[in-house]
Amino acid sequence: MSPAGLYLHVPFCLHKCAYCDFVSYPYFSALAQAYLEGLRCEVSWWRRLQDNSARFATLYLGGGTPTCLPFAFLEEIFNLLRQSFSFLPRAEVTIEANPETFSAELARRLKDWGVNRVSIGMQALRPEHLRLLGRGHTFKEVVAAVDACHRVGLTNINLDLIYGFPGQSLADWREALRVAVELGPTHISTYALELEEHTPLGRQVAAGKISLAEEEAVRAMYLEAIDVLESRGYRHYELSNFARPGRECRHNLGYWRLLPYLGLGPAAHSFWAGKRWANAPALPTYLDLLSRGLSPVVEETVLSSEDARSEAMILGLRLRRGVHRSWFAARFGVVLEEVYGPVLQRLQQQGLLEWEGGWLRLSREALPVANQALLHFV
Ligand code: SF4
Repeated sequence: MSPAGLYLHVPFCLHKCAYCDFVSYPYFSALAQAYLEGLRCEVSWWRRLQDNSARFATLYLGGGTPTCLPFAFLEEIFNLLRQSFSFLPRAEVTIEANPETFSAELARRLKDWGVNRVSIGMQALRPEHLRLLGRGHTFKEVVAAVDACHRVGLTNINLDLIYGFPGQSLADWREALRVAVELGPTHISTYALELEEHTPLGRQVAAGKISLAEEEAVRAMYLEAIDVLESRGYRHYELSNFARPGRECRHNLGYWRLLPYLGLGPAAHSFWAGKRWANAPALPTYLDLLSRGLSPVVEETVLSSEDARSEAMILGLRLRRGVHRSWFAARFGVVLEEVYGPVLQRLQQQGLLEWEGGWLRLSREALPVANQALLHFV
């Protein structure tokens, strides 16, 4: 079996950001204790079902804000996962962190628990932008978190940045990118703001109180990120992700390369042995199912070969390298052009797809309209 990824969803945050549509709850000790109990049940459930031969190459604690949990809880989680699953010797272990939950002591503990990659939510630079997004931290706290990591030798750091929010100019974005690079992260993820109407920011936009950036402005910001970050030595390896050479996120690469992964916790998704499944998104439902000895899985799909091929293209073409002809043939026993001939021809004629060596990839012109181009493979 290919090396797998293990994901844990930690559904707690200190407070809710104004644009957030993720499954997260305000942190309460009793609720976190119940979550931990649920997690223990889910882990034993999984271990009963499987032959336990899986070897994990990556572990990713995401959320939510995993670092809002007290040290004792985090330690219990790491112990539980290490006792229950088998990890490869140089496994990548990432934790998502928000700056207001960070401290020098946390950095030391993370190092002790085997974390070797920290993903910090910087999101924006200016105080008024952080306020608009409802973030609970200052830029100074971002600097302190990065510094705390560096001091203990946690040098593999990602910074998350958002663009295209109301009131942000191209100059603001350029400045946020410049300052982020100055902090010396090995990886930067940039996300265009997407708003759901039920979020506080989404409601303000729907009510006409503030307006989102124009599509053209968002596109300019995306292209600016590519220019700035590439000129500063970051490789644009995936539509939204940039890394110093060799510092690509191995866990996320697994998603785009269709490697197996197991997701634990409420709202977690898994892809294993040709099946995709999703856990109950709401924490109470997830806990209730497990407390009754039932599986927390509420949705399961067995991928047909056609679905799997389509996913391979949609996910693989997100990578700047693209999809290799031989990989596709080895994985699916069929030649890529035989399956997608007319689509490839159309997209190549439009200048959106190109071949380089055996790699099929999106052209540079296709990047701002990548999602529309990828729809052709559905
Ligand atoms: S920190 Fe992340 S998960 Fe938590 S509320 Fe903010 S956006 Fe949502």
